[in-house]
Amino acid sequence: MRWTATTRSSPPVSVQRDATCGSVCGGAPPHDGGYLRGMGAHRVAIGQEALATRLARHAEEGSLAHALLLTGVPGRGGLALTLALAKQLHCQQSNAASCGTCPSCLQHDQLQHPDLHFTFPVAKPAGKDKALSSDQFDVWREILTEKGPHVDMHDLRERMALGNKQPYISVHEAQDIQRRLSLTAHAGGWKVQVIYGAQFMRVDTANKLLKLLEEPPKKTLFVLLADNTEALLATILSRTQIISVPPIPAEAVRRQLEAEGGAEEAIADAVSLCDGDLAEARRLMQTDAAAEFDMFVEWMRTCYAQDGRKAAALADRFHDLGREPQKQFLAYALHMVRQCIVGNYGAKAAVRLRAAEAGFARKFAAFIHHGNVVDMQSILERAAREVAGNVYGRTVFLDLSMRMMELLRRPK
Ligand SMILES: [Zn+2]
Repeated sequence: MRWTATTRSSPPVSVQRDATCGSVCGGAPPHDGGYLRGMGAHRVAIGQEALATRLARHAEEGSLAHALLLTGVPGRGGLALTLALAKQLHCQQSNAASCGTCPSCLQHDQLQHPDLHFTFPVAKPAGKDKALSSDQFDVWREILTEKGPHVDMHDLRERMALGNKQPYISVHEAQDIQRRLSLTAHAGGWKVQVIYGAQFMRVDTANKLLKLLEEPPKKTLFVLLADNTEALLATILSRTQIISVPPIPAEAVRRQLEAEGGAEEAIADAVSLCDGDLAEARRLMQTDAAAEFDMFVEWMRTCYAQDGRKAAALADRFHDLGREPQKQFLAYALHMVRQCIVGNYGAKAAVRLRAAEAGFARKFAAFIHHGNVVDMQSILERAAREVAGNVYGRTVFLDLSMRMMELLRRPK
């Protein structure tokens, strides 16, 4: 047996080690549309070399806990780290690193290893009585093969064409996991069960998994991935070893975006705005930054001028955008307001704005102060909740504009 059994008294993974492990590569992989093809999946834990090395070392020593919870937004690379770890566990040649050439490693590169299982949030398809990720596995495999493992729920929602449906992890998934893990591993080694977006587990789903997380079958590794620990039950947290995945260093994001191609200025903006989240950085590269900014400026000028007629016309335009772009715009407006207040309170170095936005923000910031900023944030957040809750877009934006008119004129 290449691996010693895992124990519940495993040492914490936070043991510091040098990032010298040969299983980790710091170089940016080519982005040729076949992200995982022909390369070790471990090579794509961009900017997370130190953590990848620590996990690899614990796997090699057999000191991994049997249930890990990797926290941090998906764009930081929790899934990339997980794939690397699973590949190493399944490799037939080496237990210190995946060889990249054995049949197991090749199956991993295609996301087709029979003992690597994925559960992720899905919506119930029309005409079906269960929401199961196994029904959507082709979509999952397709998006990971194409975009690599730094995909987040925005990407998945779009690919699964969810529209306004909210994805979740149903109790039927928990039953599926129980059934799968009760069977013998195909290759006779480790079974790895990945739960991506674990914060989307329903309470009954989580409760059903508790026993399995407490006492999993032999040679089973659970890896739960969640944005944060807040939405998870304490009983789940207590059964997992929590590992925080840090933001990807700016320099590593920059190298990756440069390898994928793009204008220098757009890359610089994306790097400074993405907060170490590669999925967000890629989205920033794609969004029409100018259109978003122009719309914000026009809206703010309209509100400041207290032009009710124009505000009504703008509300119609916002309405026609649809729900996801509305949410995105409100998030952007919130971001702009926050950056102004950060700048006003002397933390100029902490301001995260694109070059074109900074000029406007310098003037606009004069209208944002301690007397209105809290209310401004709260009406934007409320509007975002209303949009998410399916309130009629025109009503939300008209109401928001009327309140904004009052707030912008409020004295300091
Ligand atoms: Zn191998």
